[in-house]
Amino acid sequence: MTGTAELHLLEGFERALINHRLFMAYQPKVAAADGRLVRVEALVRWDDPKLGMVGPSRFVPLAERHGLIDQLTQWGLRTSLRQWRSWQASGVDTALAFNISALSLEHLDFPDLVERMCRGLDVPADRLVLELTEGATQPLIKLMDTLTRFRIKGIGLAIDDFGTGYSSLIQLRQLPFTEVKIERLFIQDLAQSRDSRTIVKAIIDLAHDLGLTATAEGVETAEQLAILRDFGCDIIQGYLIAQPLAPEELGPWATRHGRRWQMLVEPSRESRPRSRLKASG
Ligand code: C2E
Ligand code: MG
Ligand code: MG
Repeated sequence: MTGTAELHLLEGFERALINHRLFMAYQPKVAAADGRLVRVEALVRWDDPKLGMVGPSRFVPLAERHGLIDQLTQWGLRTSLRQWRSWQASGVDTALAFNISALSLEHLDFPDLVERMCRGLDVPADRLVLELTEGATQPLIKLMDTLTRFRIKGIGLAIDDFGTGYSSLIQLRQLPFTEVKIERLFIQDLAQSRDSRTIVKAIIDLAHDLGLTATAEGVETAEQLAILRDFGCDIIQGYLIAQPLAPEELGPWATRHGRRWQMLVEPSRESRPRSRLKASG
């Protein structure tokens, strides 16, 4: 991005922060074993009158570079926690996952702030999971103290996009993560690539051996789902299950989802071996 283009985008983003043009979308994650809704991941969106829908990959790094990330994090977290409370009140029972920029964790008082926000809004901190991706400049290992303080408060920690970028095995051993999210790139060609299957199976086994939850993101086909269930993956997220939803869509989605899940995981009658049908008849 040129300097002028970045400045232009930055001005727009600052206006969006002030004028409430940011909103959160929520993507369901389900248990691989039985399809039960276990988490909802909050994903920020910017709806600009001129630019249209701008994705977080464009403006989160911008907010990080220009000192606006704490403001974005706090707004996003407060909005998501409020939404979470209102789902709970309406009987939609789920944990909440929230993406957090490593930069926002540089402040040692951040765990206290998150705990206070949870208490103030009467939502269970021990069902909140923060998702972290390692940035190019900031190794997560530097955040050991802050991460440990989150864990003491019962807040879960997921390492996002695991397997690419700067995420490394040593972090899994040294940092107090509770969950590993396998990068979408490995899931994409799971059915076609033996190498991806080997890598994904190894990450799932590694996570389990270290006592961590394994989540697959970007699951788009029933074939990928079947392989991941076979490998013992714990949590599934992706367009196959649901797109990121508006807050009011989660309840209706949850009502429809059970039946759809059965269709996804149960082989259809036609594909059952004929001999079995004969034998029972
Ligand atoms: P992420 O945390 O890895 O989130 C998953 C991304 O994959 C989301 O993109 C989601 O919409 C997309 N996705 C989910 N399922 C599928 C699928 O089946 N296929 C494909 N092709 N994509 C899928 P999104 O919303 O554009 O977010 C991009 C990244 O921006 C996120 O990656 C996260 O790192 C970051 N992000 C999102 N919201 C926030 C936020 O509130 N704060 C911070 N700091 N970062 C955020
Ligand atoms: Mg994430
Ligand atoms: Mg990810």
